[in-house]
Amino acid sequence: MDEVKRELGLTDVIKLASNENPFGPSPLALAALRKSLREIHRYPDGGCYHLRKKLAQKHSVSEDQVIFGNGSDELIVLATKALLEKGDTVIIAEPTFLIYKLASKIAGMTIKSIPLKNLKYDLESMAAAIDDTTKMIFIANPDNPTGTYVNRDEVEAFINRTPKDVILFFDEAYYEYAINGDYPDTLKYRDTGNIITTRTFSKIFGLAGLRIGYGISTPEIGELMNKVREPFNVNSLAQAAALAALDDTAFVSKVRRLTDKGKKQLYDGFKELGIDYVPSATNFILVNFCDKADSIYDKLLRSGLITRHMGGWGLKNYLRITIGTERENERLLKRLKEIL
Ligand code: PMP
Repeated sequence: MDEVKRELGLTDVIKLASNENPFGPSPLALAALRKSLREIHRYPDGGCYHLRKKLAQKHSVSEDQVIFGNGSDELIVLATKALLEKGDTVIIAEPTFLIYKLASKIAGMTIKSIPLKNLKYDLESMAAAIDDTTKMIFIANPDNPTGTYVNRDEVEAFINRTPKDVILFFDEAYYEYAINGDYPDTLKYRDTGNIITTRTFSKIFGLAGLRIGYGISTPEIGELMNKVREPFNVNSLAQAAALAALDDTAFVSKVRRLTDKGKKQLYDGFKELGIDYVPSATNFILVNFCDKADSIYDKLLRSGLITRHMGGWGLKNYLRITIGTERENERLLKRLKEIL
């Protein structure tokens, strides 16, 4: 935001580009942070003792099944470092969240890309692509940048088709926005032994700047991932804030409600303007501007509205727009109307 202000000489800039929570951090987390500030001359607890206990209880798993990362991004990197060896193949949808490919490439893996089908993960083709070299499959559910999700039946069939020596990495960064009737609870399948489920405090809890995410898997996978992480990978402020945020159910409900309301506001606005969009299970929407995506992106930016151009994902007609506050959404729709 600072860069856009500086470069374009703007003062009033709105960022709808990184799927952050526009309603701020959890108030309980903020209060906990104020208390923890006095302790930052100490190293953090490398084992995240209190948070580990709390999450283990919340998800009915043992404490050694919980893994922490400097954001859930780091858990993706740790998994590729700890669990893959030269010659292994990783199956990744195309396009999807970019870090799977980056981390797998850095770890020296061969990547098999499986195209989305109608902008949704094609789990059948992903399962059909498994061979003797396959070691890990990444599934963003819901997916970024499409906002679509695979449902319980699809996931169950996929898990049943996957050999137990292939690790299924379910990235559920938008879990709390997505929970509904047929959205799967992958923690239910954790006893199959080959599943890692990751979640984050960056999105609905509003703590993106602190960098903390967690994974649930088996004690064996947890131990391997712990071996390759830095000893103090999660800082003390992040731990304190996350611990408090887990109790902030009022805030989580509020954010979910306001996001759903904002989603409807944007859907209605897009419909009125004749703009095509992909219905989303998350806090962002993939919007199809056909051959005008470049110029619309640019015009929005020049008026202080930062969105994400999807050219880098091979979706050159699309912008990904984070659902903002009511006022931010209103400003976006007003500007789009002027541009169009
Ligand atoms: N997975 C997905 C699908 C995401 O969209 C994001 C955030 N953009 C992340 C993981 C990483 O989130 P964090 O590192 O902030 O936990």
